[in-house]
Amino acid sequence: MSSSVALRLPSIDGLLRHPACAPLAERYGRDSLLTGLRQLLDELRPGVLSGQLAAVEIGPEVLAGRVGERLAQQQRSQVRRVFNLTGTVLHTNLGRALLPEEAIEAVQMAARYPLNLEFDLGSGKRGDRDDLIEGLIRELTGAEAVTVVNNNAAAVLLTLNSLGARKEGIISRGELIEIGGAFRIPDIMARAGVRLHEVGTTNRTHARDYQAAIGPRSGLIMRVHASNYSIEGFTARVPTAELAELAHAHGLPLLEDLGSGSLLDLTRWGLPAEPTVRQALLDGADIVTFSGDKLLGGPQAGLIVGRRELIAKIKKNPLKRALRVDKLTLAALEAVLGLYRDPDRLVERLPSLRLLTRPQAEIHAQAVRLQPLLADVLGEVWQVSAIEALGMIGSGSQPVARLPSAALCCRPQVSKRWRGRYLLNLEAALRGLPIPVLGRIGDDALWLDLRQLDDEPAWLAQLPQLQVDR
Ligand SMILES: *Cc1c(COP(=O)(O)O)cnc(C)c1O
Repeated sequence: MSSSVALRLPSIDGLLRHPACAPLAERYGRDSLLTGLRQLLDELRPGVLSGQLAAVEIGPEVLAGRVGERLAQQQRSQVRRVFNLTGTVLHTNLGRALLPEEAIEAVQMAARYPLNLEFDLGSGKRGDRDDLIEGLIRELTGAEAVTVVNNNAAAVLLTLNSLGARKEGIISRGELIEIGGAFRIPDIMARAGVRLHEVGTTNRTHARDYQAAIGPRSGLIMRVHASNYSIEGFTARVPTAELAELAHAHGLPLLEDLGSGSLLDLTRWGLPAEPTVRQALLDGADIVTFSGDKLLGGPQAGLIVGRRELIAKIKKNPLKRALRVDKLTLAALEAVLGLYRDPDRLVERLPSLRLLTRPQAEIHAQAVRLQPLLADVLGEVWQVSAIEALGMIGSGSQPVARLPSAALCCRPQVSKRWRGRYLLNLEAALRGLPIPVLGRIGDDALWLDLRQLDDEPAWLAQLPQLQVDR
């Protein structure tokens, strides 16, 4: 650098008074602006002292611009909307079920106003939050009584602890599953204070295996829906009705963790059969637990339904207080359950069911329509095709079943050794969009499954911003 005048950073006070900073103070507050400016000047100081920075790089307008970008970045919410084009509808990492309008309105009401969460408007006395939805759940499942907690993992923990602590829980080795996110049945049992008594083998468990395990220390028999894996081939499993009979003959309760637990027979919409809560209760399960945000299509919640005296015991457990649902969830849950009273219109009103049952032809037509637009943005290097694809329900429902769908399939037309790099770059570019677009990589291509592309205009509007290797 020249030996003439040494460069000096503008003063904080000077910057704060500068017209370029005034709108930032207005928008983000004086304190945030001050902190941002201090940090920026501290970072630039070494460069100024060593002469590596030019005068134009530390002009007030430039500094104001840089601070403005940072403040905008900071202010942006960390909870962001995304496009789930992974092909997995109830994606646990992407928030599972989307709520229907009725539930969104209910959540807004509950957020905005005081409500009768634990207040009986009839008697003017203290109420119980479970009462708000008990009638509806009893009607829809045939259960005698109901309680609701934060999620199904909590429902299982609470039920096991309430009914089986210090006793043995009998369960088939084929049902000692891990659901993901470190939820393993043996661990949950241990935490619930229930001693695991595993019976049978991974692929085959018979009634006589349960029978042989029953003794003076037995507290309950548990059955867990295999959810995210499937046992096929040489298998045997005792039907719920038979297991219930055995349990009751020895005065033991039968718990059934259904996981997804559907309220209606999904085959009427062409979906794979899932055990319904009503059927599990009819078969004799004393307590059934299931999630609110899987196939039910509602908010995150754990529903515990079954025999009145057992539910009463569960509700008395102090853990219930620690695991209880909040008012927003209850409001949403009631609204979603209300839709189930009219099964004929459910598919139009419940977003998860509507998305799960979208016809392949319709999705394919959408892919055909969007193909040239994406191809245009991606350029010559990418071959974009509108083709049939297979999606999944997700959240452990029907792990083997596939939903016939359609996707935009993007293949880089480069030599094999570069393909991985190109795919990762495209994936990152899609993730970098204002509303991140999430697809899946497989078979040397990036797949955007369009089953869940509802908001096409928003997706299209940001397409020109996509920047990838051409
Ligand atoms: C998903 C699942 C759970 C956990 O439910 P969450 O609502 O995610 O807590 C428990 N058991 C089974 C069988 C499941 O499929």
